[in-house]
Amino acid sequence: MKAITRFAPSPTGYIHIGNVRSAIYPYLVANQSEGKMILRIEDTDRERYVEGATELIEDTLKWLGLEWDEGPIVGGENGPYFQSERLPIYHAWVKKLLESGRAYADPTPSEKIEEYRKECNEKKIPFLYRNFRPTEVVEWEPGIPVRFKAEPKNYEWHDAVMGGMKTGPEVLDDIILIKKDGYPTYNFAHIVDDAEMGVTHVMRGVEYLSSTPNYLALYEAFGLERPILVSLPHILAPTGNKKLGKRDGAKSVTEYRDDGILAEAMLNYLACLGWNDGTEQEIYTKDELIEKFSIERIQNSGARYDETKLLWMNGQWIRRIFDEQGAEALYVRTIGFWPEEAEEYSEEYRLRVLSIIYDRLKTLSDLREMTKYFFVDPEIDVEMITGNKFLKKMSEAEIEELLKKVVAELSKIEGWDEEAIQSVLNRLLEETGKKPAELFSLVRLAVSFAPFSPALNLTLGVLGREVSLARLNAVARSI
Ligand code: GLU
Repeated sequence: MKAITRFAPSPTGYIHIGNVRSAIYPYLVANQSEGKMILRIEDTDRERYVEGATELIEDTLKWLGLEWDEGPIVGGENGPYFQSERLPIYHAWVKKLLESGRAYADPTPSEKIEEYRKECNEKKIPFLYRNFRPTEVVEWEPGIPVRFKAEPKNYEWHDAVMGGMKTGPEVLDDIILIKKDGYPTYNFAHIVDDAEMGVTHVMRGVEYLSSTPNYLALYEAFGLERPILVSLPHILAPTGNKKLGKRDGAKSVTEYRDDGILAEAMLNYLACLGWNDGTEQEIYTKDELIEKFSIERIQNSGARYDETKLLWMNGQWIRRIFDEQGAEALYVRTIGFWPEEAEEYSEEYRLRVLSIIYDRLKTLSDLREMTKYFFVDPEIDVEMITGNKFLKKMSEAEIEELLKKVVAELSKIEGWDEEAIQSVLNRLLEETGKKPAELFSLVRLAVSFAPFSPALNLTLGVLGREVSLARLNAVARSI
């Protein structure tokens, strides 16, 4: 069966990483059956509408590689894809229910409804609008809300993640279908749209599970077949038992991009948050996810967000792209992540820096700090050398002498390549009787003043003869 799925965000702000699985999973399900994923913008709540949010949603999906088959920009046979442009469709559908007696126009003033709500509270009885339903029938006209006429009964259904579900009549009520402003509610609009668009799998956050009996009642009232219902559990905050929220450090998806997370890693991480294929595999390409994904293996409990794991996965992906697709493929993604000073250097030089440092990066933005000394002479910090744990026992005179010897030996190299540098360093070890940690720490600190660097011969190789010797000399003079 070709699955038709949808991602149906409301344009109320950015896509928070806790919500993006509602786009990833429908994408995977649609693509594994050569079906389609529809992007539908649920913009009927005009008070929560945020200008620019739709573009942000599109941008996020594009960055993650979740191309939609129908929707804004690409169009399709089931448009329009903005709910605000579909009002005549909802009105036509609601008329069917008004005619069959399963909906009613409800002019009850909101103060009256509030009074009734209070009364229920005082009497400690559940507030059910169907017990308050007006008896008088009025014609539907603009400005009057329309409500569903619920029939209290039991429901049983199967949720592909949550399993067998059962509810009693107490959860069914006269929900609002069309609001005073003529816009439909989410509860009504999504039923109409999913039916009109032929959606086979309704995949969305578990927060809609409790309203599902009302949706089942609507399917029934329209004589619609139930789609496959898939409730996605919440992503939990790093600690405690609550849903991941902005306060727990959850950022927008695009913020992770701007912080140097690769789209491949983000997609991989989020897809595997609360899903696995039953093996130990952790790194998946998008194509592998499409092939291996199955709704049955989505966990029915909330998965915990773990930034350390995301960073680890990003590091894995940085290496993988470099090793499998080449330095250029990684390089193009690093644009904008280099230290400012790097701008004055050639692309070739930056590529060489990247080639020796990529396997230490957790995010692309690590480049900013980790590669600075390749582009600008570091400030000399004598104490960093004299206080270093391997160099502490040497006197300043000894350090100066050793540095001078290093300069003298390195100066003799003709070709200045990694191998020649390494053999000089090895010879220096033998001649001076120093331990590698001592000699190499000294040279590394003197050229970089950084806590870590790639292998010393590679670092010196990329820095070049002139810069390396000048820095070593400058430090020797300052000691
Ligand atoms: N517009 C709803 C939301 O953003 C979508 C729920 C659904 O996928 O049906 O939460």
